[in-house]
Amino acid sequence: MDVFKFGGASVNSAEGVMNFFKIVQSYKNESLIVVSAMGKTTNALEEIVDNFFNKKNDLVLKQFNELKTYHLDIINTLFAKTETASVSKVEKLFDELSAYLQKPASLNYEFEYDQIVAYGELLSTKIISEYLKYKGVNNHWVDIRRYLKTNDTFGEAKIDWELSRQLLPHAFTFQDTFIYITQGFIGGTSSNLTTTLGREGSDYTAAILANILDARQVSIWKDVPGVMNADPKWIPEAKQLKRISYQEAIELAFFGAKVIHPKTIQPLREKNIPMYVKSFINYFDQGTLVSETSIEKTGKIPIFIQKEKQRLISIRPKDYSFIIEENLGPIFSLIAKYRLKVNLTQNSAISFSLCVDNNKKIDKLIEALNVDYEVRYNDNLELITIRHYDTNSILQMTEGRSILLEQKSRDTAQFVLECNA
Ligand code: ADP
Ligand code: ASP
Ligand code: MG
Repeated sequence: MDVFKFGGASVNSAEGVMNFFKIVQSYKNESLIVVSAMGKTTNALEEIVDNFFNKKNDLVLKQFNELKTYHLDIINTLFAKTETASVSKVEKLFDELSAYLQKPASLNYEFEYDQIVAYGELLSTKIISEYLKYKGVNNHWVDIRRYLKTNDTFGEAKIDWELSRQLLPHAFTFQDTFIYITQGFIGGTSSNLTTTLGREGSDYTAAILANILDARQVSIWKDVPGVMNADPKWIPEAKQLKRISYQEAIELAFFGAKVIHPKTIQPLREKNIPMYVKSFINYFDQGTLVSETSIEKTGKIPIFIQKEKQRLISIRPKDYSFIIEENLGPIFSLIAKYRLKVNLTQNSAISFSLCVDNNKKIDKLIEALNVDYEVRYNDNLELITIRHYDTNSILQMTEGRSILLEQKSRDTAQFVLECNA
């Protein structure tokens, strides 16, 4: 059995779904297909959650109707007017969501987030499964929340591997179908509450299912030819990497190469399952193979990763105590408390610097740190990471730029830079 994962960009329109159908149809093996929400649906649902939680009912209704129209436009292009049975299955999901949004919100934001945002994936998979049936392709739609079990850390739930291992094989028996369609990014607690695995988590779902069900391989379909030596939206002349090791893929994802979710690799590496990152446009091309291999086989060229909207925070204990364990401990517990991801750290005797993605949670962290520390920060920065750097690649990235912080290890150089005006 092979696992496929289709991201939001691949199914953001009726044409996208038709293209999806062509890819699936060209394939003859047993396949378990994981699909994300269509286009920017998750972002739209996040806004609905915000307004629902803040009781801005008019906005909730307006945004709900926009989202419904977006999906109905896709459906109306895909299905003939007479195909009312399929359409009403999708409408049922909208009715459920609408009913949920009319009730008062609980006091737990993350809980509400998961119950609402999950509809993005439920809708996309329902539309796609119905469309395949409409085109004569037999498949089963699986509600993954019943089988992929997690704890109840809403918003960033952890997989309950033991329970999921017991349950998942019952959902995907391949007895009366070759094709299963299911959701990425979402799961369920043992008491059947909906959870999410963290933004961009569908790649991770594909890897978990591949691991538990012993898939032969995983293919994730993207709007790029494969893993490149830089995001082609940033550096258009970026080159495709034909093959990389699991380790390289983990490093790239960890440093922020958006093409693969950082948690995806570990479950695959554990069972030695190869993963292809492929283009959903040129779908016969091989893409990039991620597998167990050595740097001698893959070769080494500099790989560039850019993270924008960074904040560099410098922390100094008010009592001038050294930055050692007793200060690092409390600082990191605050970082964990606010669920922040630190991209780079550096310390001197009495000062500690960290580079983090700039988002709403940072101000809360700074407020908390201000109690015992003097905190200063710079905003609007860029973090550039170069794997397998050399003199030229460093020059290419930093020439004429103001560097606030830099760090080099044997394979990786990182620079926090002021953004060009
Ligand atoms: P999905 O549709 O599966 O959610 P994403 O949008 O999350 O896909 O990931 C694909 C995007 O990742 C590409 O459009 C590209 O802009 C970006 N990207 C970032 N770094 C790289 C890289 N090194 N190679 C290829 N794509 C990259
Ligand atoms: N739909 C989710 C998101 O946009 C999960 C994913 O696309 O991987 O984050
Ligand atoms: Mg994505």
